[in-house]
Amino acid sequence: MNEYDSNRIYDLTSAIGFNKTDKKKEADCFVLNTCHIREKATEKVYHEIGRVKKSFRNSKKPLVIVSGCVAQAEAEEMIEREPYIDMVIGPQSYHKIGDLILGYQRKKEKINETEFDVVRKFDELQKISNSQNKISSYLTIQEGCDKFCHFCVVPYTRGPEYSRPFTQIIDEAHNLVSNGAREIILLGQNVNAYNYNKKYRLSSLIRTLNNIKNLKRIRFTTSHPKDMTEDLIDCYRDCKKLMPFLHLPIQSGSNKILKLMNRKHDREYYMTVVEKLKKVNKDIKISSDFIVGYPGETEQDFEETIELVEKIGFVNSYSFIFSPRPGTPAAVKKLNNLAKSENRLKKLQNILENFQRENNKKYLQQNCEVLIENKLDNQEKYFGRTKYMTPVIFETDNCKTGELANVKITSFNQKNLFGIYKTNKAKAA
Ligand code: SF4
Repeated sequence: MNEYDSNRIYDLTSAIGFNKTDKKKEADCFVLNTCHIREKATEKVYHEIGRVKKSFRNSKKPLVIVSGCVAQAEAEEMIEREPYIDMVIGPQSYHKIGDLILGYQRKKEKINETEFDVVRKFDELQKISNSQNKISSYLTIQEGCDKFCHFCVVPYTRGPEYSRPFTQIIDEAHNLVSNGAREIILLGQNVNAYNYNKKYRLSSLIRTLNNIKNLKRIRFTTSHPKDMTEDLIDCYRDCKKLMPFLHLPIQSGSNKILKLMNRKHDREYYMTVVEKLKKVNKDIKISSDFIVGYPGETEQDFEETIELVEKIGFVNSYSFIFSPRPGTPAAVKKLNNLAKSENRLKKLQNILENFQRENNKKYLQQNCEVLIENKLDNQEKYFGRTKYMTPVIFETDNCKTGELANVKITSFNQKNLFGIYKTNKAKAA
C-alpha cells in the first residue's frame, strides 16, 4: 500500500511543479513515506534523515517531509526529536500535501497533519489521475481495519475500515489499463472486508474487473479469513482473470494463540475456508503469514503451527518472530525467550522454504504462463511472474512487456524460475 501511496504522493506533488530525481543531492524536497509494521521502523526514519542531513551539510537545507504510518504514530515526538523534519503527514491526510507544501513555503512553520480524513482523501485523489504505468499496478480499494489483532498497529495508524466508492475504483482501474496495466492488485489492510453502501463487495469489484478487455490478471491482498465469504470464494470458480493464488494470513496454528492474538477465527475455521477454495478451484495455492514466539506460545502451540503448515502446504509465505509494537495490547505482555523463538522460526522457515523449492521443482521442463513485466537492465532477459506470483527470468530477443507468454522452465531455485521464451500465449491461441 505504501507503494500505491507513494505514487499518489508523486502525482499530487507533480501537480504543484515537483519532479522525481535520481540525483539526491539536487533534490529540494524529500518525502519519506514510512511503514510502521516492520521492526525498528522509527529508527530507520531517523537514520535516513541523518543521511540526508549529511549530504546537505554544506548546501541549502531541503524540505523534509515524513509521511505514512510512522508519522501518524509518532507525529509530535518526531518534530521535537529531529528539528530537520519540517512536516509530518499521516496516511489519511496525504491528499493535502500540495497545499501543505505551498503553505510551508510561505510561512516556514512546522506542520503536523495527522487527521483521519480518508473520505476526502479519495475524493481529492480522484481529481488527479493515477500516473502509475506499470504492467502490474496497485489499486487501493479499502483502508483501515476494525479487527484489532492484539499485535497490530494498523487500526491505530490507518483508522477504522473505509471502503472507497465502487465507481471511483472502476474508473481508476480503466485508467490504469489504458496506461498499460495488464494486472491489477486490489489493496486494502483488510481488503476482503470491502463493502460499499452494503451493496458492493470485493466480489462485485472482481466480477466487474473481469470484464475489462485488456486486463489480464486480477489479484487482491491482504485478506482476513473471517471475510472470505461464499460470494468471494465463488469468484475463484467464475472469474478466469482472478489468479488462483491467495495470501491468507493465519499467524499461528494454535487455537490458544489465535485467541490471545484476538484473531477472531480458529484453525478449524481457516481450514474450512481453504477446503472451500480448493473445492471451487483445485489449482488454488495459499500463502500465509506466521508470527513465531507470540507471548504465551509453548512448544506444543508451535508444533500445532508446524502440523497445520504441513497439512496445508503453503507456498511463498512470510514468517517473523513476534516483536512488540508500542500502543498495542500485546506490547505489554511478557516476551518469550528469544533463543527459543529463533530456533522455532528456523524450523518453520526450513519447512516453508522446502515447500517453495518443491513447488518450483514441479515446473521443470514445463511450459508456464508468465505475464511479462519488464526487461532486465543491460541484458537480453525479461522478468515476469507466474499465476502464483513466482518470479520468472527468461531469455528472448523477441517479446513485449505486458504479453502473456509461455516460458519453458529450465532451472529453478527456492525463489525464482528460469527459462526460455516459447510463444506469446494470445498469438498461439
Ligand atoms: S486484520 Fe490485519 S490489519 Fe487488521 S488488526 Fe489484524 S493484522 Fe492488523
